[in-house]
Amino acid sequence: MYKMDFIILVNIGGVLMLTLKNMSEILNSLPDPTFILTKAGRYVEIFGGKDLRYYHDASKLVGLSVTDVLNTEKSDWFLGKIKEALKTNKLLITEYNLSRKDVKGLDDDGPSNIIYFEGRIQPLNFSVEGEPAVLWQATNITQRYQLEEKLRTISETDPLTGIWNRRYFYQMIEKQKGVANRSLLPMSLLMLDIDHFKVINDQWGHKIGDLVLSEVVKVMLDCIRESDLIIRWGGEEFLIFMVKSGLAAAACVAEKLRLRIESYSFINDIKVRVSIGYVQWDTVNKNIEETIANADTALYLAKSEGRNCIKAYSG
Ligand code: GH3
Ligand code: MG
Ligand code: MG
Repeated sequence: MYKMDFIILVNIGGVLMLTLKNMSEILNSLPDPTFILTKAGRYVEIFGGKDLRYYHDASKLVGLSVTDVLNTEKSDWFLGKIKEALKTNKLLITEYNLSRKDVKGLDDDGPSNIIYFEGRIQPLNFSVEGEPAVLWQATNITQRYQLEEKLRTISETDPLTGIWNRRYFYQMIEKQKGVANRSLLPMSLLMLDIDHFKVINDQWGHKIGDLVLSEVVKVMLDCIRESDLIIRWGGEEFLIFMVKSGLAAAACVAEKLRLRIESYSFINDIKVRVSIGYVQWDTVNKNIEETIANADTALYLAKSEGRNCIKAYSG
């Protein structure tokens, strides 16, 4: 606390009398850690945050600067936020994360995982030791963050195979379209459908059918690059979205997928074949729905020409 040795008396309705020492104890009892940070990033004072389930003891940071205790990327971010709050002179609310290894000088007590914080940064209307300063309150929001992540995963992925679903695809595609238009890099779509899958289900049952679907996804994931996406489009139908790939690259991947699936040893030695339609996305003239419809047309052609083959969309 500020080094003052006189006593402040606070009288509320003649009942409550607080000394400065009391105030200090009260502030230190606050569950969330609260820092006074100067514009230059110096920790002048730290209150509260005694709950070791959620926080490390940060009291040793007093007198140090964010540049002493955080790596350059994190300390620059902290300094930027302090400046932003001081400039706007308004409460600034932001989210960030820190792990124990990000902060030098912490005790080993406290959580070992990455902690997600909500920071509430309130500019102070007086100088602290000759510098503008903020009150920075950090609240551990890790549980909320993890729950949000879980919900996001549930809403964006297919529970059977773990790959992306349509909802994710449509969210992602708008961003990709912007990138493609700026960089003029080609993008392609493959629509893959398992041939006569109903027969597999009828012969082996739905559970084995499910296993086959998961195995097909595993084979596909082994064939594609990290930048490509596989989306479960429908029951036994998959969309493969490839960036930086024109029609020739799409043909290569489609044939590779077809051959790998054809030669893979599936459960119970089940033979699996696929048909694939593919198309390059003309991002300037065609929207994604038209392009998907074109991949579907090419897939239909592959089916009608005997299945177990690949076909390009030909205008
Ligand atoms: P085609 O070669 O014309 O594509 O024939 P097909 O039998 O693959 O196509 P059809 O559309 O007639 O049947 C698809 C089957 O896929 C029927 C459906 O029960 C099955 N299916 C869809 N989703 C799942 C799933 O999640 N698990 C299992 N086991 N089967 C599924
Ligand atoms: Mg099918
Ligand atoms: Mg189908």
